Amino acid sequence: MLYINGSWRDSSNGGKHEIRSPHDGALIASVPQASIDDVNDAIAAARASFDSGVFSSWSWSKRSALVSTIADLLERDAAIIAKKESDDTGKRIIEAEYDVADVVATFRHFAKLGLKEQDHTVDVGLANVTSQIVHEPIGVCSLIGPWNYPLLQIAWKVAPALVAGCSFILKPSELTPQSAIHLIKLIEEAGAPAGVANLILGPGSVVGNALTTDPRVDLVSFTGGLTTGKTIMVGAAATVKKLALELGGKNPHIIFADADIDAAIDNAVTGAFLHSGQVCSAGTRLIVERSIHDRVVKEIVRRAGQIRMGGPSDLSAETGPLISESHLKGVESYVAAGVAEGAKLLVGGKRSQLPEHARGWYFLPTVFDECNTSMHCVQEESFGPVMTVEIFDTEAQAIAIGNDTIFGLSGGLWTGDSLKAARVASALRHGTVWVNDYGPYRPQAEWGGYKQSGIGRELGSHGLGEYLEIKHIWTNNSPSKSGWFHDFAEGERQ
Ligand code: NAD
Repeated sequence: MLYINGSWRDSSNGGKHEIRSPHDGALIASVPQASIDDVNDAIAAARASFDSGVFSSWSWSKRSALVSTIADLLERDAAIIAKKESDDTGKRIIEAEYDVADVVATFRHFAKLGLKEQDHTVDVGLANVTSQIVHEPIGVCSLIGPWNYPLLQIAWKVAPALVAGCSFILKPSELTPQSAIHLIKLIEEAGAPAGVANLILGPGSVVGNALTTDPRVDLVSFTGGLTTGKTIMVGAAATVKKLALELGGKNPHIIFADADIDAAIDNAVTGAFLHSGQVCSAGTRLIVERSIHDRVVKEIVRRAGQIRMGGPSDLSAETGPLISESHLKGVESYVAAGVAEGAKLLVGGKRSQLPEHARGWYFLPTVFDECNTSMHCVQEESFGPVMTVEIFDTEAQAIAIGNDTIFGLSGGLWTGDSLKAARVASALRHGTVWVNDYGPYRPQAEWGGYKQSGIGRELGSHGLGEYLEIKHIWTNNSPSKSGWFHDFAEGERQ
C-alpha cells in the first residue's frame, strides 16, 4: 500500500507491481504502483505538514525520542523485516539480519545525535550584538533508495530527516519495497504526525521525475546509479534543490608485498564477492604488487571457484543471486566486453549451471587478470561478482592506478609498513579508505564519495547536516541609527 497524509491506500489508477524472488522467480508480493496524482498528493501532504509546524516545531529531544522509539520497534520486528528483505533481494537471511541490526544502529545513532546541542553563538566583536547560528529543518525531502541494501540505505536518510524535523516522501526501489512499507508502519506506530512520512512505490521511470523536480520539494536525497544521479541533478537544477547523492563506485583494493598476504587475500575475496558484488563499495578492482601477483591471484581464483551460492533459505550458501534478469544480462555484457578487450578470464564468467539455480539470476564469481586502467571492465562498475586485477611496481604507481577513476567512494590497502599506509591512505581520493581491512563501517563515521561517487555525506554528524538549513540571527541589543547615509532635513538637500 501507499501511505499518504497518514492513510494507507491503493494507487489512484489501480496500478500494481509484482515482486518476484531473484532466487527462483516465485511471486513474493503484489504492491500498488503509484500514479503521478499519488505523487502530487504525497508532496502536498509533506509540504502542508512541514509548513504547519505540526512536527518541525517539535523540540530536538522530542524528535530524538521518536527516532529512538522507531529503533525499539525495528528491534522488536527484526525477524519479520529480515525475512521480507531476504525475500525481496534474494540474500541469505543471516545477511538480512545483519542489515536490520545496522538499521537499528543507524536510528540509535541519529536519535543520540539529535540530543547534542546543534546551535551556537559566535563572537562578532561587538558588545551590543548577539549573533546566533541556528539549525532548522531543510523542509520537504524526496528520499529515493536502491535495491542492494534496501532498508539500510533508506535508514541513512529517514532517521536524520526525522531528527532534523523534515517531512518526506520515501520511494524505495521498485524491486525491493517490502521493508520500506514495514518501516513506515513503525513510524506511524511510533506517533509521527500525519503527512510527515509518506510512501510512494513504483519505478523511477514513472514517479522519479515528479519526486525530484517538483518546486514544493526542498531536498532530494538519492542513492543509486551514476546515470540516474546525473538525471536527478539536471531535473533539480530548475528549482536549485539541495541534493545529497550517493552514487556508484569502482573501488581500488591495493595489496603491497609487505602485507599480511593471507589476510589480504581473504579480505579481497570478501570485498569483491560479498552479496555477489552488489555493494557500492565492493573492492572489485584489485591492484597487486608484481612480486606477489602470481601467489595472490592463484589463491583468489581458487577461493572464488569454491564460493557456494544459494537462495535465502539455503543455510550452507555463502552468497546469493543477482537482483534481476536485466541486471544479470548487464553483468554478462560487461564480462563479454572484458574478454573482447583482452582481459584474461581465470574463473567464472558465466551463469551458474546448477539445476537448483536454473530459475534464478545466479552469476559465478569471476576474476579477470592482465587488466589495465584503459579497459572498460576496470573503469565501469559492474555491480556484480567480477574482480579485475592490475599490477604495480612502485608505491606511486599503486596510488596513480587507485586514483585513475571517475569514482571516489572507497578503497583499501594492505601493507605492514605504517608510514607507507599513512602516505597511501592520504593520497587516495576516496571517501572511505580501509587500511589492513576491507568493508566495515559504523553509523558514527561519515560515508560518501569523492568525484562522481556523489555529493554530500551520509551518517556521522554530516549525515544530519544534510537535512538542516543554517540560519544566522544577528540581534542588536541596543539599537541605534546606522548613519551610513546623511540624514538631510526636509528641503536641505538641493
Ligand atoms: P538506480 O539508479 O537504477 O535506482 C535507484 C533508485 O532510483 C530506485 O529507487 C529507482 O526507482 C530510482 N530511479 C530510477 N530512475 C529515476 C529517475 N529518473 N528519477 C528518480 N529516481 C529514479 O540504482 P540501483 O540499480 O537501484 O542501485 C545500484 C546503484 O546504486 C549502483 O550504482 C550502486 O553503486 C549504487 N549504490 C550506491 C551506494 C552508496 O552509498 N554510494 C549505496 C548503494 C548503492
